[in-house]
Amino acid sequence: RSKEIGRNSFQLYKASMNARSLERLSMLSRFQYALEHDEFELYFQPLQCLASGRISSVECLLRWNDPNLGMISPAQFIPLAEELGLIIKLDQWVINKACESMALWRRQGSDIRRIAINVSAQHLCQGDLAITVANSLSKHCLDGRFIELELTESSFISNLHEAKSELQKLKSLGVSIALDDFGTGYSALSYLTKLPIDTLKIDASFVAKIPDEYGNSEIVSAIIAMAKALNLQVVAEGVEKSEQRQFLQKLGCNIVQGYLFCKPLSADDWLRFYHAEKATS
Ligand code: C2E
Ligand code: MG
Ligand code: MG
Ligand code: MG
Repeated sequence: RSKEIGRNSFQLYKASMNARSLERLSMLSRFQYALEHDEFELYFQPLQCLASGRISSVECLLRWNDPNLGMISPAQFIPLAEELGLIIKLDQWVINKACESMALWRRQGSDIRRIAINVSAQHLCQGDLAITVANSLSKHCLDGRFIELELTESSFISNLHEAKSELQKLKSLGVSIALDDFGTGYSALSYLTKLPIDTLKIDASFVAKIPDEYGNSEIVSAIIAMAKALNLQVVAEGVEKSEQRQFLQKLGCNIVQGYLFCKPLSADDWLRFYHAEKATS
């Protein structure tokens, strides 16, 4: 009896393995097709400075609009791209597109100060990130100070020395560096003094528990105090409620991002939002 169950579950397992590898194979070719046929698109979500109420910068967030499957979330396809070895190609596409967009906006006369680009952890030490950025900047005649790269702590784990030298090359281009999802990784706090980091982005999971959950506010408050002491900018991600915004402001966090201010928007909607905000500020 148990043998039978074992055999059946093995067959089930085998069948699902086959389905999975087929799925991966078709994903791989669809992915490559998508890269070549402009099925990827950047969405834009502004960050707001609490003191002035103004937009301080904008983060680009990747979207995959598959004609059959519809919008696929980056939470689904970024891990897949990493697994399939396509993430560096994808990051390069994003970096180029972000520079192109920013250069266009500036030519059109808008004074958006910075565009933030998410970069996969794998990229920092494996690819030529600084070279990719330098090439995209010069291709679009854009100064590096208009760019911020968002990295996560896992980017530094494999090779701190290599990471540092790559970050220094980026800094010499004028690019600033943000640490994304701060507080969720294996935060070795010494990174903050060893690496040329400009901004900490407090992960949305902390913001979601403001102000209720025990101990959470103290952690957020400590992160903000530490960032200030180290002369780092601090951004709170995932701010959805006005109580959260008020609380963060009271603690001295001066930049927020989240659905409360604005959700990620298509390029056209983002420019409309930007101009409407400018008109009222
Ligand atoms: P992230 O960089 O931490 O981006 C924040 C995520 O939270 C985004 O999800 C954004 O749409 C979402 N978000 C913003 N405000 C709120 C809010 O108030 N409430 C909630 N619940 N969510 C909010 P998204 O766009 O699905 O991206 C997920 C992650 O995928 C990003 O996290 C980033 O790590 C990665 N990613 C996105 N675009 C790129 C890209 O171009 N390249 C790479 N390598 N990774 C990317
Ligand atoms: Mg980010
Ligand atoms: Mg984040
Ligand atoms: Mg993230």
